[in-house]
Amino acid sequence: VQGRRHAAANPLRAQRVARRAAAPASRTATVTKAVKVADHTDARQYIDTRHHAHIHNHREYEEMYQRSIEDPDGFWREIAMKEFHWETPVPEKHHNYNFDVRKGPIFTEWFKGGKTNIAYNCLDRHVKDGYGDQDCFLFEGNDVGRDGRMTYAEVLKEVCRVANWLRSVGVKKGDSVAIYMPMVCELPIAMLACARIGAVHSVVFGGFSSDALASRIEDCKARVVITCNAVKRGTKAIDLKKIADAGCNIAKDQGFNVEHVLVYANDDAQSKADTKMTAGRDLFWQDVIPQQKDEAEVEWMDSEDTLFYLYTSGSTGKPKGVLHTTGGFMVYSATTFKYVFAFQPGDVYWCTADCGWITGHSYLTYGPLLNRATQVVFEGVPTYPNPDRCWEVIDKYQVKQFYTAPTAIRSLMRSGDDWVKKHSRTSLRVLGSVGEPINPEAWKWYHEVVGDGRCPIVDTWWQTETAGHMITPLPAAWPEKPGSASLPFFGVKPVLVDDKNNVLEGEAEGMLCIGQSWPSNIRTVYGDHERYETTYFAPFPGYYFSGDGARRDKDGYYWITGRVDDVINVSGHRIGTAEVESALVAHPQCAEAAVVGYEHPVKGQGIWAYVTLLEGVEYDDKLKKELVMSVREQIGAFAAPDVIHWAPGLPKTRSGKIMRRVLRKIASFEEDQLGDTSTLADPGVVQTLLEMRGNMD
Ligand code: ATP
Ligand code: MG
Repeated sequence: VQGRRHAAANPLRAQRVARRAAAPASRTATVTKAVKVADHTDARQYIDTRHHAHIHNHREYEEMYQRSIEDPDGFWREIAMKEFHWETPVPEKHHNYNFDVRKGPIFTEWFKGGKTNIAYNCLDRHVKDGYGDQDCFLFEGNDVGRDGRMTYAEVLKEVCRVANWLRSVGVKKGDSVAIYMPMVCELPIAMLACARIGAVHSVVFGGFSSDALASRIEDCKARVVITCNAVKRGTKAIDLKKIADAGCNIAKDQGFNVEHVLVYANDDAQSKADTKMTAGRDLFWQDVIPQQKDEAEVEWMDSEDTLFYLYTSGSTGKPKGVLHTTGGFMVYSATTFKYVFAFQPGDVYWCTADCGWITGHSYLTYGPLLNRATQVVFEGVPTYPNPDRCWEVIDKYQVKQFYTAPTAIRSLMRSGDDWVKKHSRTSLRVLGSVGEPINPEAWKWYHEVVGDGRCPIVDTWWQTETAGHMITPLPAAWPEKPGSASLPFFGVKPVLVDDKNNVLEGEAEGMLCIGQSWPSNIRTVYGDHERYETTYFAPFPGYYFSGDGARRDKDGYYWITGRVDDVINVSGHRIGTAEVESALVAHPQCAEAAVVGYEHPVKGQGIWAYVTLLEGVEYDDKLKKELVMSVREQIGAFAAPDVIHWAPGLPKTRSGKIMRRVLRKIASFEEDQLGDTSTLADPGVVQTLLEMRGNMD
């Protein structure tokens, strides 16, 4: 195990280094200097944010960080006991784990012996403290003008009613409930109702097909499904109930019977009368929930009792059913939320993620409510009816923290600055990014145009498996570098390893592992502990392996280079996808890029680049040369793409991530072996890319 942490990052030194580096960087044989745009920010420029931040400088961070690594048990127990209600307090000795497959089975325990309930901590606690009248949810519908609000007291009552209904149909602690809903307030309410009675929720993203839903229902044996009749997203209406019915039928054909389906009637999209119901199985939320009692007993949970199952996005293959438990998830999601968003109770916060993904669990349903946020729940899409919907909503509710994904940022950037500038955005304090590496070009736009240079960008690196931010800036505490997630959060010990299992110290690039347990690390892959051990712990014994690559620079900042499986090896140079893509996106007419390797007779692997252009730009040979030049100049000739493949759209998961494995198959003419594409958002994109490939010379 690594003894000493690498040289600590010092913000002043970072600024000096960055100033020196302002002169064009020398081109070396490693892909380390791809960043063209401003190298760093000055933490002191964020006057308003500094005022609200919980950590004000690097020294404060370093002190807390050291303690969190050296005494994790004491560090986290103190936070747990101070910030949350425990029905049975957490004992002094509460933490135990094994990350080393050579020493026996992998397991993790945190706050063991303590009893709590996360829904109680999200709601009852605040109402008891006198905040029942504070707005909890600000609902913003798909169509402009359709909105509503619910206070903490109202949400608590509704959660109790749903909890009572669940109990009335026989759901008990440990039973699974599948939730298949669009982004209406009733979705987090249903999750909280499960948590209140100790039922395990498995949220299935509302865009998934009936097959995907069926396999998830069967996997967790959910006898109860909570859904919605229909939803409008942009101009599209989606008949969710029909898909849910098909899902239940597929499950039935395979021998699993769903006994109860609770249907929230979203009358904006479809009337109750037009919704087909199955007698004896289906009931409308509006018909059964209002008459339930609005108080419900809390099920006190052991800290290690299961809270939920959730599938990963499926970017690299068949999705994994990740299992998280109560106490560790609660403490970690809430603590990261507080520090990373410089959050103060009562702030208005908005995360655009769907509850079908981990971001919607940690930073929509739980983290914000645990911190007594007033949050926007948005049913629609960022570009409907116009590309200024987000900025309009930010002004309407005076949002302070805004959290979204690079895919959304890139698409809004593509629509031009005027849409942003129409709105004031002065309420904003922190801007967040999650899901993929954010290219420096998009970072800069987010920072300068959306945030007017006033708001720090928190580029948060984490995963479904980690349940909370792992490597992330803390706002206004140290300089940000566009494209770098910067430093580890409390309790997180990143370790870079090479493929011979050597731990790399100092400035280095390697596979990103985590050296010790943190409160919300994945406990198992549901129903497949063996897959859990082989995926995450067998590759580098003693460490959790993330599957991502990273580089650590001389200031100790981490730069995520992309998935390890996506690394391209050109004539012996290992090239991460993120940096080549950033160099392409830096071209003023390039909107988005994805690069993959393909077999090359001389170089081993060549670089095949898929490029999406800004709206209205024509593709021609001159542009192709410029794009290649852009990479040669910023990285070096060895990283120059061999093929530029014009792409009207890229294959993405439904959570908005580029599926490079699909692009790899297209580049190697193996489109008959695309693998699991069940989480692909738009299968039509693949066909278009194949046709375009046919037209290439
Ligand atoms: P699967 O594990 O099924 O292949 P997935 O990894 O896309 O799917 P998620 O858990 O939703 O599923 O995504 C986590 C991954 O997203 C990370 O491993 C990383 O590759 C990427 N990621 C998330 N945030 C960032 C970020 N800020 N910078 C770079 N990459 C990020
Ligand atoms: Mg993953």
